[in-house]
Amino acid sequence: MAAGLLQAAGRSVVVLEARDRVGGRLFSRRFGDGRLDLGATWFWANEPNVVALVQSEGVAVFAQHLAGDAMFQTDDGVQRMNGNQIDAPSGRVVDGTQTLAERLAGRLAEGTVRLEDPVHSIVPADASLAVTSSSGSREASHVIVAVPPATAIELIDFGGSLPPILEGLAKATPVWMGGYCKVVAHFDRPFWRESGLAGSAFSYTGPMREIHDMSGPEGQPAALFGFVQPHPGQPAPTNDEIVAQLVALFGPEAETPLEVVVQDWRAERYTSPPGADQLNLYQTYGDPRYQEPALDGRLHWASTETATDVPGHIEGALSAATRAVNHILGF
Ligand SMILES: Cc1cc2nc3c(=O)[nH]c(=O)nc-3n(C[C@H](O)[C@H](O)[C@H](O)COP(=O)(O)OP(=O)(O)OC[C@H]3O[C@@H](n4cnc5c(N)ncnc54)[C@H](O)[C@@H]3O)c2cc1C
Repeated sequence: MAAGLLQAAGRSVVVLEARDRVGGRLFSRRFGDGRLDLGATWFWANEPNVVALVQSEGVAVFAQHLAGDAMFQTDDGVQRMNGNQIDAPSGRVVDGTQTLAERLAGRLAEGTVRLEDPVHSIVPADASLAVTSSSGSREASHVIVAVPPATAIELIDFGGSLPPILEGLAKATPVWMGGYCKVVAHFDRPFWRESGLAGSAFSYTGPMREIHDMSGPEGQPAALFGFVQPHPGQPAPTNDEIVAQLVALFGPEAETPLEVVVQDWRAERYTSPPGADQLNLYQTYGDPRYQEPALDGRLHWASTETATDVPGHIEGALSAATRAVNHILGF
């Protein structure tokens, strides 16, 4: 987002991306005939930047499936609710939310995005910042760190140049969803809908605490997804544990998924620093110190955690990018 705005203003930009794909926590994986999200899933009508992006790019979207009854699970067993009190109306991207990042990257001049090129250091050098990544070193008049602050501090050597108070803030800022696993269970059809269930559940027993219908438009690919927040240091749940919980909630047809994928975001080094599951100072989100550039006005923060509007969501990432660019362009 930031790179596109800067290029539109005539600036020269390079995007150094550590992974072999764009999107970061927008991560859509193929299941059957479509892609489903192992990272962010939903957007909401009151999120102007996401809605504008979807509309300007003509991205195909659909409404989250809501119809049916929710389930509730405690140590005493499972209970069917009357209606679906768990899901709120939200939008979904037909081919997964990674599409949004792919469309933004597709707008950039050829060669702008360099994949598999992690940044190792950012240090002041005369009237610029020297950035060293796997492909070498370059100097830039401005650098936007669109990486969760705690992850940036873990992976990038700032050569002691950051004010200690800013470094401390960044280290303490939780990575949104960085301590979670997201589970997707793919089925041949959304069988739960046939018995009037919404595919949503709350559970006090786990391993998944919250479950939703993950199916694509018209119910295909058919899937359920759940969030797991393991205790610090505990392993991700096994497929057998996941299937047993789905059978308890949705019946014997849940016993034969086509595939179960457990995406452990704690293990993604380009998302979560070690110990990310123990960071909990959410009041650091959108801190005033992230709103101002550091290092003589040259270093700008732009991950969702730094946003003042809807930090944590895709919307926050887009608004943080706009704020960083406005500083660079002097608006
Ligand atoms: C399981 C899960 C569910 C979620 N559900 C929702 C949802 O339903 N709706 C919603 O709005 N949001 C949701 N979110 C949050 C949403 O995904 C994030 O708000 C958004 O993707 C953050 O974007 P970002 O650009 O700030 O950070 P990221 O997406 O984390 O991007 C950071 C990028 O920096 C790269 N990087 C890291 N280190 C380096 C380095 N040293 N050098 C170069 N590159 C580096 C990473 O590879 C990555 O591409 C969810 C997140 C998760 C994990």
